[in-house]
Amino acid sequence: MKSALSRRRFLGAGAAAAAAAVPAASNLEAIEPAPPAKPVSISSANGLAATNRAVKLMNAKEDTLEAVISGVNIVEADPKDMSVGYGGLPNEDGVVELDSCCMHGPSCNAGSVASIRDIKLPSRVAQLVLKRTDHVMLVGDGARRFALAHGMKAENLLTDAARRQWLKWKENLSDKDDWLSPKEAETGHEARPTGTITCLGLNPAGELSGVTTTSGLAYKIPGRIGDSPIIGAGLYVDNDVGACGATGRGEAVIISCGSRIVVENMRHGMDPAAAVKDGLKRIVKQTVDPRLLDKKGRPDFEVVLYALRKDGRHAAGSIYKGRQYAVNEGGGSKLLDCVHLFDR
Ligand code: ASP
Repeated sequence: MKSALSRRRFLGAGAAAAAAAVPAASNLEAIEPAPPAKPVSISSANGLAATNRAVKLMNAKEDTLEAVISGVNIVEADPKDMSVGYGGLPNEDGVVELDSCCMHGPSCNAGSVASIRDIKLPSRVAQLVLKRTDHVMLVGDGARRFALAHGMKAENLLTDAARRQWLKWKENLSDKDDWLSPKEAETGHEARPTGTITCLGLNPAGELSGVTTTSGLAYKIPGRIGDSPIIGAGLYVDNDVGACGATGRGEAVIISCGSRIVVENMRHGMDPAAAVKDGLKRIVKQTVDPRLLDKKGRPDFEVVLYALRKDGRHAAGSIYKGRQYAVNEGGGSKLLDCVHLFDR
């Protein structure tokens, strides 16, 4: 994919110059730091193979969007990852519904699908929405029919392992669904399995892309859409500044516009670690419903924000200590620790 936009001249040559080129906090004009010499990809912790493939493809001069989407396709197609794509945990009716979005920095374009059934690789459908429609987002049956029109196969995405886990949940219902009884509305209920993959890529030409894809919250109310397909929440890419993806409680990321906030923080001069920490602090501040608070008055859920700046610097941050993220900067992919707000 070719950029239709002319790129601004870079201000610095090396990484040091790039760091210096990042604007002061009040400078609203985005200044492009120099991109790194080699491609970089970062991802949620389930993305070791994804980042590896993304960097391999970017090294072969593949477009950054194609590279990150090819990367997450590995996890979408893997039945063992029960939080993404094929084999993901279903909604409360036992039907797998998937969410995904992608953004291509150079063309400032985005594509998204939400609540799509029967299609194994929702990120590919999001990419088709970006490339082959005049829209950004398709949902439900419309998204499914659009995928079929493009030759994708309808398949049953519910694996036996996911069905058994769902059945166990179903048999133990009562206080574990989203239909809150008056008592639950006050006291909350047990956390359920979550998971997602987000993958960001940057090449030496300074071109950025990102993708986020998930089966969403396990046993959700049919039709529930999380942050993963929402541009600005589960993903945001600004080719002048950087990119951010999110995993964790989608409702909190939607309400805070989490990824967009992190990219704007970097635009105003924060490094990626400071940018994600500030994004998380805002989520904590906006969590006031007692149902969502633990005994210390802190969120009883997790959110992880992943940031990749235009100069190749990166960080990820979680509300609580102990999370990691995947990185590939040219060698093998590795896991690095996230910065965090609270030890516990
Ligand atoms: N963010 C996803 C959602 O809310 C779930 C997750 O990442 O765990 O659908």
